[in-house]
Amino acid sequence: MTTGTAEGLAVDMIKCDGHGICAWLFPDRIRLDDWGYALVDPAPLETHGQRRAARAAIRACPRQALQPVPGPAPARSVAS
Ligand code: SF4
Repeated sequence: MTTGTAEGLAVDMIKCDGHGICAWLFPDRIRLDDWGYALVDPAPLETHGQRRAARAAIRACPRQALQPVPGPAPARSVAS
């Protein structure tokens, strides 16, 4: 991930296996659906803390299902 450019976080639902580690590491932007699969807030990661938490979630995902994307992510969105 680069700094200075807003990026989003996206989840590949084909790869996601519902381990839930990502939501534990980045609860501000990732929550789990009723089956334990990741729901990712597609809003850009604006702060250093958000980008750091996103990187931790990306690294921790055992399925490599999380990816940084430029701008707002076209991921499953979270109803707020
Ligand atoms: S850690 Fe990876 S596999 Fe587990 S819920 Fe999150 S995105 Fe899906």
